[in-house]
Amino acid sequence: MEYMYGGTLLRVDLSTGEIRRTPTADYADLWLGARGINSRILYEETTGDTDPLGPENVILFSIGPFTGTMVPGSGRVEIAAKSPVTGFQGMSNMGGYWGPELKYAGYDSVVVKGAAEKLVYISIYNDKVEIRDASHLAGKDTFETQDLIREELKDPEVEVVCIGPAGENLIGYASVQNRLGNAAGRTGMGTVMGAKNLKAIAVRGTRGVRVAQPEKFMELCLEALAEQKPLIGMAKTTDAIGNDPPSWGETLGNYEATQWVKQKELRGGHKPFWEKHKNRQGLGIAGCFNCQVRCMDYYDNSDLGPVVVN
Ligand code: SF4
Repeated sequence: MEYMYGGTLLRVDLSTGEIRRTPTADYADLWLGARGINSRILYEETTGDTDPLGPENVILFSIGPFTGTMVPGSGRVEIAAKSPVTGFQGMSNMGGYWGPELKYAGYDSVVVKGAAEKLVYISIYNDKVEIRDASHLAGKDTFETQDLIREELKDPEVEVVCIGPAGENLIGYASVQNRLGNAAGRTGMGTVMGAKNLKAIAVRGTRGVRVAQPEKFMELCLEALAEQKPLIGMAKTTDAIGNDPPSWGETLGNYEATQWVKQKELRGGHKPFWEKHKNRQGLGIAGCFNCQVRCMDYYDNSDLGPVVVN
């Protein structure tokens, strides 16, 4: 695949230690983007009898053709596996910076099967792929895990998706995390990682991404950015602590409600927090790769250290 794609699916079997590569082209013509490829491979490689927490389940970390380019908001990663929560196809996605790094390493998906005997992590540096011991990371939270892996690999540019103690202990709804505030929190994808004894996937890529008509592409991306700009104020995410005025994105639970009549009570009940944060005056705002929405607020909490709220 010449343009936009990394060109390769990276397949790792944690039971046997086998690492192999297959062409993205086997799927990309019919199954567009990360959700398309994930859905097709899950359909082919799991059955109704597949135990979501068994080694036969497959978990995929995939990106689409736009990932890593200038297309606004294209830094997201789609994770899929048979879900321990629903027993059906689990899908959850996250922003951050891991997806573009995977593209720059030359891959469109990491497809993980099997289960390791002890805790491991996968390290990807372009063509160099290793399954590494992660026993020293057992019980570490997701912030510590990312720091320790970067230290170990001696590269501050490494991007890491990982689980914390919840995933390791197979809590049913464990999330997968990247950086401070990016989570794939739906359908128990972190639980599936935990069941495979997979603590993290670290990736660093240096290859870039090829675009067929760079000038035209840049022109279209700038157009999209300009179209999007007036809408940014409306695009803040869940607003349970409240903006003033509130944004439209007040959603609750599993999106069963879009307005929360008790919001005022919560504000009263959490007055100190509300007073401190009502104007969202954090240290600054943060966001994901190439997204101008930048929907996260960055705080320095004296107890917790740096905190991102979105
Ligand atoms: S900055 Fe916010 S809106 Fe933009 S991709 Fe990340 S989570 Fe989504």
